[in-house]
Amino acid sequence: MLGEFVLTQNLKVDFHTHIISEDFLNLTEKYGDDRWPVLEKTCDCGANIMIAGKKFREITNHTWDPEERIKDMDKEGIDVQVLSPIPVTFSYWSEPEQGLEMARFQNDFIASTAREYPRRFVGLGTVPLQNVDLAIEEMDRAINELGLKGIELGSNVNGNNLDAPSLRKFFQYADKWEVPLFIHPWATMGRERMPRHNFMYMVGMPSETALAAGSIIMSGMLDEFPNLKICFAHGGGSLPYLLPRMDKGWNVWPQIRKTENPPSHYAKQFYYDSLVYETENLQFMVDKFGADQIMVGSDYPFLLREAPAGDVVRKMKSLNDNEEDKIRGLNALDFLNLNKEQFQQESNTSKQHS
Ligand SMILES: [Zn+2]
Repeated sequence: MLGEFVLTQNLKVDFHTHIISEDFLNLTEKYGDDRWPVLEKTCDCGANIMIAGKKFREITNHTWDPEERIKDMDKEGIDVQVLSPIPVTFSYWSEPEQGLEMARFQNDFIASTAREYPRRFVGLGTVPLQNVDLAIEEMDRAINELGLKGIELGSNVNGNNLDAPSLRKFFQYADKWEVPLFIHPWATMGRERMPRHNFMYMVGMPSETALAAGSIIMSGMLDEFPNLKICFAHGGGSLPYLLPRMDKGWNVWPQIRKTENPPSHYAKQFYYDSLVYETENLQFMVDKFGADQIMVGSDYPFLLREAPAGDVVRKMKSLNDNEEDKIRGLNALDFLNLNKEQFQQESNTSKQHS
């Protein structure tokens, strides 16, 4: 029977994808402040994200249209996409109440999309980290009222790294409530030195991600909050390769130590998406962190994405079937505290109906 056959297949999840509402909130108009990202439709098939009247990014309708996304997912063999906001919309620079307005808008939109297509999409929310109490309040609403499965965080808050004392309370609550966190680079360090070559994306983002991960590790936060569940985008950026140097520093400078163990110990507790483009790089990560800590994430639908999602994992010769199944879907379900049996049955039903 087809149903039984499908049930034995493991779900393929793309953990790292972005979405934005077609009717995006225009806070530039509302507050007369042109730092807010604004969506300007160019046709039914696409739009420009504008900031201060300048084109920040050209996007296609795949960025907002669930049906277009599902066509691509079916083509690429992806059962479930995890939807998260586009980092430029984090807007931590804004007045906290306005930042909350933006976060609520996005969370409502992502939750409604996931509710409409419960077998194909799972949503992550965003919170106004510039005010830790509002951020905790919105995390509570996003998870407990809207049914989002985790929170996406930017890699710094107005130039403060994520180990800033003002943010500690947010991580305390994420730990207490066991909310999965997806940390994505944005407002990258040194971007004033990267006006050319699109280096912000190629060098800035991986460096920024390493700094964010290193800050969390070195702060001792993971000893204090042992339930924190954190995934870093883009394979952790340059972090995996920098860990031996961080361990060396931790060893030779006892006066800077805030942790019980060297940095590489904590890096093994993180999750990472698989967006590193080459089998050699992913193998390096599997060897370092284990197949349980890595999950396919493609950065759909943007230019630097892996297409088809999971391509590099599929090309790896060293993985056994169990490890490949984990990286291609099961780890993401575990990370997001999703019940895989229920998910598989629902997905199965959806396949029968389509
Ligand atoms: Zn991304």
